[in-house]
Amino acid sequence: MGKVVEKVKLTNLFEPKKSVEVDAVIDTGATMLVLPQDVIEELGLRKIGERRVRYANNQIQIKSVYRGVILELKGRDGIFDVLGEVEGSEPLVGQIVLEALDLIVDPITKTVIPNPRSPDMPMTEILMTTAYNSGYAVRSRPPKFRGSPMNNMQEKIVEILIKRGKELLNQPYRKIEFTGNPEADDLLNDIKNFPHAFVLACIMDRQIKAERAWLIPYEISKEIGGFEFSRLLKIDQNEFREIFRRKNLHRFNDTMAEYFYLGIQKIHRDYNDDASNIWKGKPRSATVIKRFLEFKGVGVKIATMAANILARDFKIPMADYICIDVSPDTHVKRVFKRLGFISKNASNDELIYSARELNPEYPGIFDLSCWEIGRNWCKPRKPDCKNCYLDPYCPKKI
Ligand code: SF4
Repeated sequence: MGKVVEKVKLTNLFEPKKSVEVDAVIDTGATMLVLPQDVIEELGLRKIGERRVRYANNQIQIKSVYRGVILELKGRDGIFDVLGEVEGSEPLVGQIVLEALDLIVDPITKTVIPNPRSPDMPMTEILMTTAYNSGYAVRSRPPKFRGSPMNNMQEKIVEILIKRGKELLNQPYRKIEFTGNPEADDLLNDIKNFPHAFVLACIMDRQIKAERAWLIPYEISKEIGGFEFSRLLKIDQNEFREIFRRKNLHRFNDTMAEYFYLGIQKIHRDYNDDASNIWKGKPRSATVIKRFLEFKGVGVKIATMAANILARDFKIPMADYICIDVSPDTHVKRVFKRLGFISKNASNDELIYSARELNPEYPGIFDLSCWEIGRNWCKPRKPDCKNCYLDPYCPKKI
């Protein structure tokens, strides 16, 4: 296809004043972002480890890996690790970067263009890249897990779970059952027309059963004759308090009526009456979580859950999925225990950190595959190992 070169902006994540623009070779056969040592020094990047690379002439070298650079290309950006090459070499943008930014190389125009169908996660393997102006190829081994040591079987399990997670994630959107009430679920699933229903339900989700909390927008819509945002805006805090009390919507009616009212005001003030502005424009996962946290009454657990549902179930594109944690769901937890990734008495936090350790780029990727395994084969009693696709590798810590 010939050489494709694009201008990229690179910024040190930890020292944003250190920023440079370079011409980078775009190579779809490569994986990582590769930068010459002089650019790495200019950016002041921090070395985090080393990686073995093998060149086409079979020479094997240990190369330094640096964290973390914000790379901007074609109006999109993401945070990446960098493989260090010798001073003066050509910067090189590999497939991990292109996939994370949903970009492809157009073979006709030989330019990088947005690809809305691009997978939304970085690849964990392989690369074949043209090394900087040396004319020989560089091949890197699949990245090694950098957390607790894993045996081959565990590495295989993680690989299978991530692969299956990606397949499930890329399936088309299906209606989410939030409450068991079809009309209430219709309202919550309609994030195109009623994005505020989803946000306000998240705010309500505390200290009562989730099914009851998520019914609240629907219950209020019945009281006020609809759930259009303009209709909600006309209602003052006292009126909401009266509805909450009369319908006994929540364990803490007065407080939650206040949070409900304040949530509406915040969407009006900060998001121009459109709650979908919280997640529009492919923001970083951290940005989405931070925006939810800014609503009164929302803590980290709910904010991360909201981001998780948006990414996993509503298929909302985000620039990265680093902050999308696994849900402490009973099926997911049971499967993680039986696979030996967490202890038998593990807390939800242990589950979350275990998933982060296993796949830092997208810890929540395990949700869908583990839920599927837990629901279909890894049942609380009598797990059906014979039919489970992890059977050949699973240590079966039952
Ligand atoms: S092989 Fe058995 S124990 Fe292991 S995950 Fe599958 S069903 Fe569960």
